[in-house]
Amino acid sequence: MNTCQIILQKPEETALYLGSVRFFKHLIVSIIFIIIFGLLAAVIILAAENNEKSAEIYELNQTLISFGIDVNEPVNTISNGDGQFSIEDEQPVIDSEPEPPAEPPIYLPEPITEPDPEKSPWIELFPHLYSDYIPPANFMDDSGFIYLTFDDGPSRYTGDILRYLQLHDIPATFFVMPDDTEAGKNFLNTMLDRGHEIGVHTMTHVYNDIYASVEAYLEDFNDAWNLVYEQTGYKPYLFRFPGGSINDYNFYVRTDIINEMTRRGFVYFDWNVDSRDALDASWTEMYNTVLNETAEVPRAVVLFHDRPGGYNTVLVVEDIIKALLADPANYIFSAITRETRPMQF
Ligand SMILES: [Zn+2]
Repeated sequence: MNTCQIILQKPEETALYLGSVRFFKHLIVSIIFIIIFGLLAAVIILAAENNEKSAEIYELNQTLISFGIDVNEPVNTISNGDGQFSIEDEQPVIDSEPEPPAEPPIYLPEPITEPDPEKSPWIELFPHLYSDYIPPANFMDDSGFIYLTFDDGPSRYTGDILRYLQLHDIPATFFVMPDDTEAGKNFLNTMLDRGHEIGVHTMTHVYNDIYASVEAYLEDFNDAWNLVYEQTGYKPYLFRFPGGSINDYNFYVRTDIINEMTRRGFVYFDWNVDSRDALDASWTEMYNTVLNETAEVPRAVVLFHDRPGGYNTVLVVEDIIKALLADPANYIFSAITRETRPMQF
């Protein structure tokens, strides 16, 4: 047969010997495997090293944080070779003795000018209710002064309190709740005659009523202020809020009342030492509290009460006075004066 046959024959397996095709094939495959494994190993080693570094950095950061150093803040530090770091750039010098905190701003009457009805919507009320108090250009330096103050009197104990004060020749300040009795009137006059100061506290002392509105507060204050004036001929310029200027009852009216009272020339005093006699504190508690707290402040406005339930106050007040007089700090007792910088919360 003359047919042309194409025989597709599988090429014979080449023998493996140096320089043969099969040899080179194996060689190439081996090289590729070696490269791949080499790369994989390199990646694994790098990753492990990186991990170790992160742990070191974390540890270092924790140490810095424990020293109060902000690790996110870039700082220029140099090592002095023994693991200690010092700040290269000059840092601001911090005073070792910080300035004592300034006393907070206070509400003070301003010179009375033509009233602005927009600022004083209560201008029509009680047109006589103004004080002649003008704050001094500078308050006196009263560090070391103690101002004993008695709220809520006159009461059955006013005579005792006045007697102790007289015995030790100590002037004090009474924030009064005047009453329409001969005894009450006599007490107020005795206070003034003996050099004590009188400020207005309140007529009723009913928080819910007097702090119901500015009008309600003014009405109560006006009653008390008028009665003091009627009984003594003295027009108080001082006052103290029942419960202090910041209390649980006056949140919504506080600023308006203070602004209106200040506009009328009155100045209020809170306190910075509380005898806690209103909380029926024991003799010991009151004694320790007043002596300890007075020692901690540059000047002390001490809160006591002259009230029917104030038996403990009468028992302890003279002992407190004696202890303060004997104190090597040489305290000076004074009534609040027009030169006294107001003590306000
Ligand atoms: Zn009171």
